[in-house]
Amino acid sequence: MVTCSSPETAQTAAVQIFTIPNVIDIWASDNHLTVRLKVRSNQAAVIKAFKSVVTDATIIEMKSVSLIDWRRTDKTSWQSIHSRKVLATEIPHKEGFCRSLKDGRWVYYGVSNRMSQMIEAMKEHSKKREHLYETIPVLDNLLDALKRLSLQDPTDMAVRCFCRPECGVPLDLYGAHPPSPDHTDDALNYGDGDQTLNIISAQHNTQIKRTSVPEERTEPISWVNTKAATMNTNTKRRMTVLAKKVEKTLEDVALLDRYNKESVEGGVLTYTAYKMLLVQTKSVYSNCGECHTKLYYGDANGMLTQTKVWQQASPDRLTRSAFYEEGSIRMVCQACQFTDHHQDRLDREEEHSGDVVTLTHAHLKEMKENVTERLEKARAGQGSSKRSRTT
Ligand SMILES: [Zn+2]
Ligand SMILES: [Zn+2]
Repeated sequence: MVTCSSPETAQTAAVQIFTIPNVIDIWASDNHLTVRLKVRSNQAAVIKAFKSVVTDATIIEMKSVSLIDWRRTDKTSWQSIHSRKVLATEIPHKEGFCRSLKDGRWVYYGVSNRMSQMIEAMKEHSKKREHLYETIPVLDNLLDALKRLSLQDPTDMAVRCFCRPECGVPLDLYGAHPPSPDHTDDALNYGDGDQTLNIISAQHNTQIKRTSVPEERTEPISWVNTKAATMNTNTKRRMTVLAKKVEKTLEDVALLDRYNKESVEGGVLTYTAYKMLLVQTKSVYSNCGECHTKLYYGDANGMLTQTKVWQQASPDRLTRSAFYEEGSIRMVCQACQFTDHHQDRLDREEEHSGDVVTLTHAHLKEMKENVTERLEKARAGQGSSKRSRTT
């Protein structure tokens, strides 16, 4: 904060201080100025810089304040008088690397970063499933998976997803189809000796896959009832989030109004109405609206006797802003449903990616080297920690 001898000298000083490239915002109030810097430096350096540019204005006092504290305590109304946007400079394209914006800076992402992401994801999934995660056996299985992936035709420019024989989409090091290790046996952990990991597209590595093996349910549940209950909870959750949104669009306001009117007894956004809607939509869709496979609605009584049936029918809203209601839903199989959801998530995660990098055999070689290095390090670490425990 800079205090000048008069409001006029403060205005002059502001113009001069704004010539310093490190200054991004200046606010004024009476004879005071507050200056925000792009990069913080020590007070003496700041004062020196300010004094070096301020010529005909008189600075009485300067003190450094934290913007957050100052905003909390200050009662003065400050007016923004000089402001500039600082953009991160784009870095040049580098073959085999993805340029991405992170915390306002452009950075390169290559194989090593992708491997860290894959390994972190496995750790996280293991925690969620309450599975054991041990670095060495997991990396061993991962290395085997990479070796198996390398067996693909090296003259093919792309390395392809083989989640199912007919898939074949090219994998990306960075892009819409990043590599993701898939358990062949969901019940076993990633490092289990009997586990086989397959590297497939993250988009196809979903909870319910076309290769999932159905399991008997101990207690059959009604398809209509569970789906209606899910639609009800999903809508409620969406509307709670929307209601908390600070800057609502006109569309948001309209959605909330409609929900408040229709979620009461007799309305079309209730559990009872969803059940009727499901029965009606079921009569129209005997096949998936996306992949046209024959849908599974349970047994003759509409009871789901098995889990992990990828053909199980699932209501799908046609647009993200729609409610589950007549004319705005269709039926899809669970495999399609999960793929779509996963796609949304991926879009968000990768939205800053400047470059799509197709996965090549050269990358695969680097990936194997990366895992081998990690294994060596882990083995060396294990040796030394064992020694230190015994001594
Ligand atoms: Zn695939
Ligand atoms: Zn489908």
